[in-house]
Amino acid sequence: MEHPHQQPNEVEQLKNHLLKQVAWYCMGLHACLIFAFWYAQVELLAVFNVLSVITWWFGIKLLERSQQSLALRIFSLEVTIHSVLVCAVIGNDYGFQFYLWAASCLLLLDTQLKLKQAVIWCTAIIVIFALTYTLFKIPLTLIDYQTLAPYLHFLNVVVCGIPMIYTIGLIREITIDQQRDLETLAAQDSLTHLFNRRYAHGLIQQAYKSCVKQQQPICVVMADIDHFKQVNDLYGHEVGDEVIGRVAQCLSQHLNSADIAVRWGGEEFLLVLPNCSQPSAQKRLELIRQSIEAMNFDKGALQVTMSFGLATWQAHCDFEEVLKQADIALYKSKHKGRNTISVAPQVH
Ligand code: GH3
Ligand code: MG
Ligand code: MG
Repeated sequence: MEHPHQQPNEVEQLKNHLLKQVAWYCMGLHACLIFAFWYAQVELLAVFNVLSVITWWFGIKLLERSQQSLALRIFSLEVTIHSVLVCAVIGNDYGFQFYLWAASCLLLLDTQLKLKQAVIWCTAIIVIFALTYTLFKIPLTLIDYQTLAPYLHFLNVVVCGIPMIYTIGLIREITIDQQRDLETLAAQDSLTHLFNRRYAHGLIQQAYKSCVKQQQPICVVMADIDHFKQVNDLYGHEVGDEVIGRVAQCLSQHLNSADIAVRWGGEEFLLVLPNCSQPSAQKRLELIRQSIEAMNFDKGALQVTMSFGLATWQAHCDFEEVLKQADIALYKSKHKGRNTISVAPQVH
């Protein structure tokens, strides 16, 4: 059964946090305006600002309860009514109409509102902004501080612009982070965090080309956990998964940054070792083989071993060919009794 208040995801939480910051900023701003309008003897606007402070406080409470959509609609409505009212009372010279742009942007953040509806509402707010210049040419009240008008106009444009830049900037960062996460998800295998087969192809070709160019050797290794089916059968799938995960971790710990480790299949791994000669690869694999042999699982009740097939990737060979050689060498290791490293004969 679906819970009525589902846990918001990480991005929504971040957005909520950011909106709360903006809401506090706006609440503070409205609180200051109570005194400013009171001082300027525009009591109507001072009283309206008290209502505004209450509205923003209520919105913050809604955000705390993750009712983001409602909060955004209330904020947007508040800013729209408030801007129009201020412009009607004291005119456009003070720049309060620019908050209509902020109201329009706020509404766009309401992802529960369909894009078409959001665009209609936002356009309506911008049209109101444009209309303020013709509708409120003659203000209802002439306040005593006309000389301050250009400065207040400037201040309002800046004050209104800062949260817009801040919000859009942060949303930009969230989008970039999400893109990066998606790329990692697409590249990695979820159990082992090694590269998956589909993604690794490009990296492997790149590493190969670079080694051929620099006339450096490059080795390809197929590695497979021995008798893994028995692990699953005797200890259960969960322990099986733990074995795969920890073996993958062990492989990663023994690799250099230029090496490529791929989960090729269930309990089968492909290693590509650039700038590595066959004897040195053999030595490194021997260390890995010993480390895996020494590992304990299921509170010491289980140990596993791994078999390896090593092939040197010749310059004239394609990837499928070297993979076949490594596979044949692995098969040889299995045939020899497992827990060993076999080397494919060099093709000239
Ligand atoms: P060999 O020594 O010849 O490699 O024998 P083996 O038992 O390791 O090989 P086999 O291919 O017969 O069995 C592999 C088993 O790995 C079968 C499959 O159920 C299991 N397996 C594949 N992927 C996963 C996985 O993600 N998690 C778990 N727990 N088991 C998996
Ligand atoms: Mg196996
Ligand atoms: Mg296998």
